[in-house]
Amino acid sequence: MCGVFGAVLPGAEPTEAAAVATMGLFALQHRGQESAGVAVSDGEQLMLYKDLGMISSVLDERRLPSLRGNLAIAHCRYSTTGSTIWENAQPTYRQGPRRAIAIGHNGNLVNTRELLTQLTGGRARLPASTDTELLTALLADEDAPDTVAALINVLPKVRGAFSLVILDQRTVIGVRDPHGFRPLVLGKLPPAIRPGGPDDGLFDDDDSRAGWVLSSETASLDMVGATFVRDVEPGEIVILEEGRAPRSVRYAEANPKLCVFELIYFARPDSYMEGRNLYEVRRRMGEQLAMEHPVEADLVMPVPDTGAPAAAGFSEQSGLPYREGMYRNRYAGRTFIQPSQGLRHRGVTIKLNPLREVVNGKRLIVVDDSIVRGTTTKRIVELLRKAGATEVHVRISAPPIYHPCFYGIDTSIETELIASTHTEPEIREFIGADTLGYLSIRGVLAALDLPYDRFCFACFDGNYPEPVPYDAASRKFMLEEPLAGAVRG
Ligand code: SF4
Repeated sequence: MCGVFGAVLPGAEPTEAAAVATMGLFALQHRGQESAGVAVSDGEQLMLYKDLGMISSVLDERRLPSLRGNLAIAHCRYSTTGSTIWENAQPTYRQGPRRAIAIGHNGNLVNTRELLTQLTGGRARLPASTDTELLTALLADEDAPDTVAALINVLPKVRGAFSLVILDQRTVIGVRDPHGFRPLVLGKLPPAIRPGGPDDGLFDDDDSRAGWVLSSETASLDMVGATFVRDVEPGEIVILEEGRAPRSVRYAEANPKLCVFELIYFARPDSYMEGRNLYEVRRRMGEQLAMEHPVEADLVMPVPDTGAPAAAGFSEQSGLPYREGMYRNRYAGRTFIQPSQGLRHRGVTIKLNPLREVVNGKRLIVVDDSIVRGTTTKRIVELLRKAGATEVHVRISAPPIYHPCFYGIDTSIETELIASTHTEPEIREFIGADTLGYLSIRGVLAALDLPYDRFCFACFDGNYPEPVPYDAASRKFMLEEPLAGAVRG
């Protein structure tokens, strides 16, 4: 999972596009905390700055003034292919024989080995080990009159999850794979305000003077003052240029399978997907959970902050009071995103502290949105018991995760997923809870009020919309294997 943002700002000050892209990216920091970067074009030249670290430490006031141009893309990374090293940070950049392009990618390709065989010169030509670097090289090499034509040639060979923002000299382009696994939305900004000019900053119907943005989530449109226009459709290319309205090209038939985990957990609660506000969706999941797994208790509390909307719904449905029984240090990062198990385990103690006054002597219903490896939940239950809780009933507002994700979420291989190696009673025992209840797929759909076939549920039911290679153990570091093996595929 990553965050991507793109901006075209006609008539703006030369550093505004990079600033808007960075501000938009700030609202997507939860989608990736390993690296950040911005690429800009002034119509002639592309410039790029990227580094490992949080957005605020990478894209600060020392860097942004040098990124000049009215076109920009930005990316924050959480790795699903390749290690966390500088070379793998994005946007990628490549000066090919045909064109110079930069790409920000949210998702994960599933036919990387196959694509590598199509790259002239093979693995040795790639300076980094990500699927995005390979795609960038293929597009920069492609014998086509422009980037859109190159995309139309190359994309039908690419399989997997990709929501892309692409920058060349004169365009910012948004692309979604035919399933639309990862979200991407189009927004519109009012025209630039010029001193002494006619603009008052109010929304203007003149599309040729408007600014246009692309983002992983609607919440970041709000942050930069853009209005939501529409989703980039699965199988669609949206082309943004200065001085004209966005153009749309369809390169594949749509077969929408939006990742349901985006709605359950990953995306921000103030974002909208499928016309639904995600806070409201999650609150309704909590209501469903209370109907499916009622239990006698004194209070309902969330695992902060991810369990909060579902805990509110559980409380309303059950009639039990809602309390915050733990404090979460918001500056410690997401444990799920930290790369190693050891760090993840340590991260829990850094982040969460029970509120003894609230939990002591109480029977608790503790609501969270997922259990991946179980170690975080086990630690939470331990902390709550230590703080005096008499009973801990764990309720999860999602079904058990049985299968790995190949489409851009690093849920690890089966052997690390507790639900795939343990029965529910074994999981309850492992985490040390008095009772455990997961929301059913039917309950998720009731909360969404949308049909099953609109979404990917593969990590819950193994029904992968796009065939996946089953070398799960090596997939993340595929392009870091010995070159001959990788090219041989
Ligand atoms: Fe989302 Fe799971 Fe499908 Fe991956 S496998 S895209 S996490 S629903």
